[in-house]
Amino acid sequence: MLIVKKFGGSSVANKERIFRVAERCIEEYKKGNDVVVVLSAMGDTTDELLAKAADINPNAPKRELDMLLTTGEQVSVSLMAMAMHALGVSAVSLNAYQVMMHSTSRYGNARFKRIDSERIRHELDSRKIVIVTGFQGVNKYDDYTTLGRGGSDTTAVALAAALRADACEIYTDVDGVYTADPRVVKNARKLKEITYDEMLELATSGAKVLHNRSVEMAKKYGVQLVVRSSLNLEEGTTVKEVAKMEKMLISGVAGDKNTARISVLGVSDQPGVAFKIFHTLAKNNINVDIILQSVGREGTKDISFTVSQEDLKPALAILEEYQEPMTIREIKWEDTVAKISIVGAGMMSNPGVAAKLFESLYNNGININMISTSEIRITVLIDEKEIDKAMQAVHDGFGLGDV
Ligand code: ASP
Ligand code: MG
Repeated sequence: MLIVKKFGGSSVANKERIFRVAERCIEEYKKGNDVVVVLSAMGDTTDELLAKAADINPNAPKRELDMLLTTGEQVSVSLMAMAMHALGVSAVSLNAYQVMMHSTSRYGNARFKRIDSERIRHELDSRKIVIVTGFQGVNKYDDYTTLGRGGSDTTAVALAAALRADACEIYTDVDGVYTADPRVVKNARKLKEITYDEMLELATSGAKVLHNRSVEMAKKYGVQLVVRSSLNLEEGTTVKEVAKMEKMLISGVAGDKNTARISVLGVSDQPGVAFKIFHTLAKNNINVDIILQSVGREGTKDISFTVSQEDLKPALAILEEYQEPMTIREIKWEDTVAKISIVGAGMMSNPGVAAKLFESLYNNGININMISTSEIRITVLIDEKEIDKAMQAVHDGFGLGDV
């Protein structure tokens, strides 16, 4: 079997943990399997590198930022190879350039285009454990790129797809995918299985277990994922196309504080205005999430929408710049809001899920600001202060916890 194993930053944060991971991989290797290991940077390395960059130049060129950030993963993979050698097993560390993991050009948010498998195959054939840097690619200018925060999961899935691996295991500091963040909701339950679609909605809604693009890619290439803990031998959660329905209406609740609301007031109520606003934001790479438009009154209307907190400042700058052509009378914003989402394939065929969500919030005196839905997700915007209470209330309301 060929197995891809990915370990996150906290799993390789220090010497002891590096050896623990090394031993775990060697165990797999000694069963006769081919083992490819993908690593994140140690502990908080990426944050520390970003802080260093900001200290030198808060507007650092994106290319140079990626040049810096990719060093984090290069440290962890080389140390891991050394640890394996110390344990008497032959291993080789490779970065994105050595493997040739071709990505799009965009620094800081690149996507994989194609991955060469020859080098890895060659190393596996000579019975080495291959350790690959997560989070990085190489663009058409032969420069390093990074895939966006948390991107090492995507590296693992991309390699699993390119190598047609028999298994892709994502090791992290939680035991698997839970019905809610167990740090917030004490009686949250670990799921045995979840579908790609549900996992994707959860990852996009703020559940931090998996990089959402890794799930997208796993679905596209049919790579079955297992999410499990690097600290124990618990079974974990399998992410796949069809999950056995556990007779659950919904599979999970996710909260996301990284959101801000912008309202543009008094825009003229005529065709093309919404287009102008959202087209301009999109052109500037600002992702808009929930959108709410008021009923027109006296020839004007108000539009509210949410963006991530990082995008708040740039979005406001654009709206101010184009305030006149966009016919905006007034711009308001608020960053003390949070999103709470419920996700479940079961809601497609069951009416009343939205009502139950609203009831759970109402019973706890939590006010809803905005609502958005997809086929298998409902998201509401609430006051950030109430997020933990809301998570628990909704989790209880749907009876998701351990009994
Ligand atoms: N080291 C990168 C980050 O902190 C990538 C990853 O951990 O997946 O975002
Ligand atoms: Mg991660």
